[in-house]
Amino acid sequence: MNDTAAGTGGKIIDGKAFAAGLRRRIAEQVRTLQAKHGFTPGLAVVLVGENPASEVYVKNKGEQTKESGMNSYEHKLPDTTSQAELLALVDRLNKDAVVNGILVQLPLPKQIDPQAVLNAVDPDKDVDGFHVVNAGRLATGGQGLVPCTPLGCLLLLKDRLGDLTGKRAIVVGRSNIVGKPMAQLLLNENCTVTIAHSRTRDLAAECRRADIVIAAVGKAEMVRGDWIGPGATVIDVGINRVDAGGGKTKLVGDVAYAEAFPHAGAITPVPGGVGPMTIACLLQNTLTAACRQRGIAVP
Ligand code: NDP
Repeated sequence: MNDTAAGTGGKIIDGKAFAAGLRRRIAEQVRTLQAKHGFTPGLAVVLVGENPASEVYVKNKGEQTKESGMNSYEHKLPDTTSQAELLALVDRLNKDAVVNGILVQLPLPKQIDPQAVLNAVDPDKDVDGFHVVNAGRLATGGQGLVPCTPLGCLLLLKDRLGDLTGKRAIVVGRSNIVGKPMAQLLLNENCTVTIAHSRTRDLAAECRRADIVIAAVGKAEMVRGDWIGPGATVIDVGINRVDAGGGKTKLVGDVAYAEAFPHAGAITPVPGGVGPMTIACLLQNTLTAACRQRGIAVP
């Protein structure tokens, strides 16, 4: 495996570098907002319970929010929190003018229905883009907030390929948070989109036809190298922790990277591809939501 040019110019799509650039731009936009309009956007993140992975995500989100110059409000609730208590907090945050974006970290403890909570967030503060109203806006061409991970994938694709019109794209995975909104975004960019899932017949052949392959399956290295057509662009959303021997573990994607690399025209690594884009897009959504709530253009 050899990537001749470093960064975004080579075959490897460097999501880490791209996300860092995006965060720098957002920080500049926040400074402009403060100087011109005298206000600072704020993001509230709600964590219920003690899931170690969620604690890391929430910590990273809080740190990056503050680094961008925005205000971060963290709410940590115990594992025993009832749905009514969580809904009461969401209601307070919906009404709080200093809070422009609200994110409830998933998964939630079993006594709480996640969809009921996600749909209680004011759609205009729903920076995760999971509210049914935002899913509807995305599907019908309305102005909404788009889920962060698919938005990050789209930014990487457009940076690499420019206009996506007419490209054949396959999205492997049809979850509400990644697969479906990703397919919708690609359709909005005039791609011809195939959505594949666990019941798809001859997935390898479906993938081979595509100019763009998005893997969002949650199965380590399931997409093999010979599923990738010559020169296709591969976006690997998967994050899977696997045994690396010697009592150690490592992260791999849903694509068998070393196998796919020679076939692909461009490919995201794991880690360092899609992952860093998710929080950067969360910050972008917060900025967008804040500006819309104030009726001002994003600087
Ligand atoms: P889900 O488990 O919700 O969805 C997985 C999808 O993959 C389902 O639609 C399922 O099909 C499909 N699938 C499962 N097995 C197969 C198979 N053998 N062949 C074809 N399709 C299959 O996962 P998510 O969408 O939430 O996440 C997908 C991956 O992305 C995970 O690895 C997750 O960790 C990662 N992720 C990464 C993020 C990031 O920031 N980079 C953010 C979010 C997720 P069916 O519907 O038929 O069951």
